[in-house]
Amino acid sequence: MEKSNFDKYLKEQLKDPVFETRFNQAGKEWDTALQICTSYCSHCKTITNLNTSTTMTLVPEKAGKMKLVTSKTSHCASCAAIVYSENEERFRN
Ligand SMILES: [Zn+2]
Repeated sequence: MEKSNFDKYLKEQLKDPVFETRFNQAGKEWDTALQICTSYCSHCKTITNLNTSTTMTLVPEKAGKMKLVTSKTSHCASCAAIVYSENEERFRN
């Protein structure tokens, strides 16, 4: 089986205890994974680079209020599968 360049890179990085700690935490905390701009793609079954896109939508709410919905979506750089996505809602008067 051939190892990708990224696997080699990751193996090097894992020798660094600081990176290793962050990497291990990344499995539990998606935020940390996003900070290092890589994540696990279940489609590729490997750690991959992420392309993150953000869209903002204003949604009308009850009583004339507006809701601002920010959608952050991270795609695998290799296969373009959605690896991570989150919506943040903010209310405005
Ligand atoms: Zn992938």
